[in-house]
Amino acid sequence: MALRFFNTYSRKVEDFHARDDRKVDMYTCGPTVYSRAHIGNFRAYIFEDLLQRHLEARGFEVHRVMNITDVDDKTIRGAREAKVPLERFTQQFKDAFFDDAEKLRIKRADEYPSATDQRYVDKMIAMISALISKGLAYQADDKSVYYRIKKFPNYGKLAHFNLDELQSTGRVKHDEYDKEHIGDFALWKAWDEDDGDVKWNSPWGPGRPGWHIECSAMATAILGDQIDIHCGGVDNIFPHHEAEIAQSEGVTGKKFVNYWLHCAHLLVDGQKMAKSLGNFYTVPDVIAKGYTGHEIRYALMRVHYRTQLNFTWDGMKEARESLGRIDDWLERLRELAVENGRDAALRRPRTSQRNVPTQFEDALDDDLNISAALGFLFETIRETNRAMDENKLDAKQAGAWLSWWERINATLDFESAETELPGEVKQLAEARMQARLAKDFRKSDELRDKLNALGWEARDTKDGQKITRRAGAK
Ligand SMILES: [Zn+2]
Repeated sequence: MALRFFNTYSRKVEDFHARDDRKVDMYTCGPTVYSRAHIGNFRAYIFEDLLQRHLEARGFEVHRVMNITDVDDKTIRGAREAKVPLERFTQQFKDAFFDDAEKLRIKRADEYPSATDQRYVDKMIAMISALISKGLAYQADDKSVYYRIKKFPNYGKLAHFNLDELQSTGRVKHDEYDKEHIGDFALWKAWDEDDGDVKWNSPWGPGRPGWHIECSAMATAILGDQIDIHCGGVDNIFPHHEAEIAQSEGVTGKKFVNYWLHCAHLLVDGQKMAKSLGNFYTVPDVIAKGYTGHEIRYALMRVHYRTQLNFTWDGMKEARESLGRIDDWLERLRELAVENGRDAALRRPRTSQRNVPTQFEDALDDDLNISAALGFLFETIRETNRAMDENKLDAKQAGAWLSWWERINATLDFESAETELPGEVKQLAEARMQARLAKDFRKSDELRDKLNALGWEARDTKDGQKITRRAGAK
């Protein structure tokens, strides 16, 4: 089956073709660093990670850029309230973003351009000048520069709406009186007192770029005028991505993006996440409840990206159980492979495995159908466990399943790492190891029970103690 994706622009599932055979240029809208990203943001980043890894599994070389929005209304307001320079204010949230992304095992993008980088500010100014000279932008009486959306016939094509439907809802802000059309968006915002020392010089006077032009400039500066895939959350479709198309195509006259992919919202306990509802979580909030980064990764990845994902604590428990099932299965396979003196099979990937299934990859080819891919994984686990129960699996077969796992785990990245044990579990495990060294077996058994109660299992192997998740009910 050919690789295919749902393209927001056409509202259709389309076969995927890269412009340059095996190379894929991918642009993903990154965080606005005015506060710590929440798990809803990370759902989109996990979807993009799955997309990149699956493209790589299919032999594409992916060049991915993720921008960091470090200047906009929210970052300026935050820095002003915290009474620190903008750069210092945003740096803490940049660091936090990279920490959280690493905990969730999100592959690093090739580049993380920042909007405040002078190189890109220059590019933004050049693009705005080009738009003005083409009649696609104008400077208003308030000194800000706006995009003239009526002059761009394709405006509204991505979000699928008619320009005439775009009307002011509620109060018109002061600066909007200066615009020709209510939908005209700011490319360059003239400096005002609230901006403090945040300003750049431009042909239109001091000011700063609008959020939308930041992405158009960084995307085209790094990846060129045309891009294969552009991703984001559904809330980016309008106005952000609609504006990116108008700006980029307005300047270059070329089709900006071939495939637009958008990830649906994350709900928490069936509701939209909001600080006022007390259901607003960051990655550290979930970790503080005793979960690990890769359990969060599982919970955020397991539902198809175009379906709303409902985050619940039961769902986190299920994530732990599912990963426990995988760990148990791997351990059984490894024991079987080693027992029979074939530990070489553990690491050496086989080039010609005739009977190795492809259903996992096939499911992901179909617009990243992760539910079907995971369904196949767990069905395989059930079947091979049954075969092991009945002594019907030999070391060679176990080795083949292990190489299959290595292949699909390059996409999933689900395997436990000991270093990821929650603090309390780590302490109990260390205490138990000490008790065993001191031959205090009663204490060691007590500690084993405590670990059990927390959902973890301690096993004594010839390589020492191993801590794994307890598999849930099968
Ligand atoms: Zn963007």
